[in-house]
Amino acid sequence: MRRRIVVVALIVVVALVLWTAFLMHVPARRSAFYPFPADRQCAISVTDDTDHFQFATVDPVYALVDSLGLRLTKTVWAFDAPDADPASVGLSLELEAYAVLEEMTGERPKIEIFHSYNQEAFYWGSDRLPGPVLRFLHGVTHRGSFEGATEGSPYYWVDIARSLVCYVRAYTTNDINTLALNPSMPYEDPSTPMAPLWFASSNGRIGEQFARLFSEANVESLKEERGVSIVYTHFGAAFVEERPDGARPLRKDVREALVRCGNDAAIAFVPAGEILDRLRVIQIFEDAVDRGERTVGLPRDLTYALDAISVDPAALHGPYSLAPGGAERVSLHEWWGAVGLEVHAGDVSVFDGARRIAWRERWRMVLRWLATQVATPTG
Ligand SMILES: [Zn+2]
Repeated sequence: MRRRIVVVALIVVVALVLWTAFLMHVPARRSAFYPFPADRQCAISVTDDTDHFQFATVDPVYALVDSLGLRLTKTVWAFDAPDADPASVGLSLELEAYAVLEEMTGERPKIEIFHSYNQEAFYWGSDRLPGPVLRFLHGVTHRGSFEGATEGSPYYWVDIARSLVCYVRAYTTNDINTLALNPSMPYEDPSTPMAPLWFASSNGRIGEQFARLFSEANVESLKEERGVSIVYTHFGAAFVEERPDGARPLRKDVREALVRCGNDAAIAFVPAGEILDRLRVIQIFEDAVDRGERTVGLPRDLTYALDAISVDPAALHGPYSLAPGGAERVSLHEWWGAVGLEVHAGDVSVFDGARRIAWRERWRMVLRWLATQVATPTG
């Protein structure tokens, strides 16, 4: 009897390990389209998240970023938190969030990033996890309440979220190639139908983790995989050394990584909202090709993103595989001209026909995210 229990337990453990390995495995992305020009091998989007932002400490980082000519994404808080610990307060706009941001910058922010204590977050905290077991375990170990999707709460706003913002960050990972982990991004989750589209990001949270993510080996593999890294970081968090004499030079490993990547002509640095727009355009093209269509209708707001996309025609089939010039990749324009597609801007929204994430991809992200939380806790 005892032996039988041991055998059954062993079989269960082995099955669980195999099942987890199956879910965690990241298959190569299969698409003929790339969200960067034909002369680039990968794209990197860096989002400087606003926690800990102090002009005094981020100055050396931005000086280097400017001298390298890199385009990044900057987040801001919309409102100050009156009772927050001053050490963790970041740059904020004490204003009517979305409306005033639009008035100030002339455009809507494209992305929203929820944090561990933002009460207006929706489908956050334990609700990010699939299945009751994981939700329960997460609830036990994490505090914070998130009411963006709680009807009747003053923080409820998920019903208008799509009219305000297109993309919301979901899971994070320590892998550099975010797109390999989340090939369906920006994606719709069938369990969160009202939410905008979700996307994953790679963890470069503090100086040391940022430098590690952009190690030479990681960046080389990103180029080889023709990948996309959507990195979130905090330039205000340990990017500089605090010297006893009061000097605050940039960390050596961070400087080395930024200079190496910034001077690499094979890398396209693209703001996060822009890379997500390009990926959304690619999805629309992929769907049209899958259905064998001859016309492609794009949301007006996305037509600007057409210019920076490239195609590998050899990876397509039938009449779509015409390769102008025989290069490995060509610009989207050249390709659709050669295959005779009609591309036009129509009255469709970014959300029409959104790509839905498959269960296996979602579980893979959840497991990678949990592994990342254990290896490098982010709260
Ligand atoms: Zn943050």
